[in-house]
Amino acid sequence: MAVAERDKPGGVCVNWGCIPSKAILTSAGLYEEMRNAEAHGIRCQGLSADYGAVIRRSRKVADRMSRGITYLFKKNRIELFPASATVLSPTTVRWGRRSSRRRTSSWPPERRCGGCRGSSPTAG
Ligand SMILES: Cc1cc2nc3c(=O)[nH]c(=O)nc-3n(C[C@H](O)[C@H](O)[C@H](O)COP(=O)(O)OP(=O)(O)OC[C@H]3O[C@@H](n4cnc5c(N)ncnc54)[C@H](O)[C@@H]3O)c2cc1C
Repeated sequence: MAVAERDKPGGVCVNWGCIPSKAILTSAGLYEEMRNAEAHGIRCQGLSADYGAVIRRSRKVADRMSRGITYLFKKNRIELFPASATVLSPTTVRWGRRSSRRRTSSWPPERRCGGCRGSSPTAG
């Protein structure tokens, strides 16, 4: 099995959508709780938010998840093609940089198991 990915492994959800936005929401939730801490008898003076640090944390969370996906690819022997790819046929994918030389590569299912020839490759 193989995956072609022109950006970071994990797609929008892991890198730009669900995961980093939930990390930001977690920071916002914590801030809100601390703002209301006095109701619990906890005094919190000089509370402030550093938005840059919030975003940096969200990037760290997303990057860690993406690295986890790369690790899972390796562990499960899923080949990662770090490039833009175009599906040419059910068994062939062209991948590589647009401007420079393009490589035509047989999609791994075709190379590795004849029985998989009918399965369609998926970009991304
Ligand atoms: C801010 C935000 C928050 C979100 N929050 C949630 C949430 O809480 N819950 C939820 O369920 N959904 C959420 N979503 C939606 C979720 O991110 C998408 O539904 C999901 O990412 C779709 O997954 P996908 O695999 O179909 O496509 P994508 O995540 O877009 O993955 C496609 C991947 O393929 C790669 N690719 C595309 N074309 C090629 C090519 N030709 N060659 C090589 N690689 C290619 C892209 O680089 C990309 O990494 C959110 C989205 C956003 C923007």
